[in-house]
Amino acid sequence: MPDPSSKPYRVGRSKTGLGLFATEPIKKGTKIIRYFGPMLDCNKKKDDAVENKYLFQISKRWTVDGSVRKNIARYINHSCKPNAESDVSVRKRKIMIRAIKNIEPGEEINYDYGTEYFKEYLKPIGCKCDACEKKRLKKAAEARAEKKQDKQKAKGKADKSKDKEAAKSKAKAGKPKAEKVKADKVKSSKADMKSAKAKSAKAGAKASKAKASKTQPKSAKPKSGKAAA
Ligand SMILES: [Zn+2]
Repeated sequence: MPDPSSKPYRVGRSKTGLGLFATEPIKKGTKIIRYFGPMLDCNKKKDDAVENKYLFQISKRWTVDGSVRKNIARYINHSCKPNAESDVSVRKRKIMIRAIKNIEPGEEINYDYGTEYFKEYLKPIGCKCDACEKKRLKKAAEARAEKKQDKQKAKGKADKSKDKEAAKSKAKAGKPKAEKVKADKVKSSKADMKSAKAKSAKAGAKASKAKASKTQPKSAKPKSGKAAA
């Protein structure tokens, strides 16, 4: 048995202030730390009036006030993709934080605070957990990449003078930016797209969509026929 006084975690700086970090490998399923504090009975007016960010509701009646200094578990931050969970025993009125993944030394320990907390405290300011941060970065990168692609497409289109080329790739992309390059061509290609869409809706296949945009005149409705001419 390891020395029970040596804890596998420490309080340290995290992105959002302080957090709890593993100092030793923590195996999946291991109890890490108990979340504790005075028990509040919501049937008592005085208890029910307590308000702070560290309240942990155990049941309809009982809530743990985790704001006490000794409750080191209060340093554990929220994550939408956590490596631990809060394991609540309603009967014993106990909250145990347990690893749900193998946690490496240096890794921050976190658990999901639950939808209520998320809605009240995290959503308004934007969740700063790794999972959400990654999502944001990915979205931003994708938006940048798309912008770049659009620019390149627009450039490439300007170089090509063949109508067919323009119409073909336009039917595929149809991005508004590219439309500025050749306004008159866009009209016809838009019509192509419409007819292509209509046809593919019937056929329901990608291949037929590509075909349709090439052989559009057949399926062109009177409306789009005007634009194409
Ligand atoms: Zn998050």
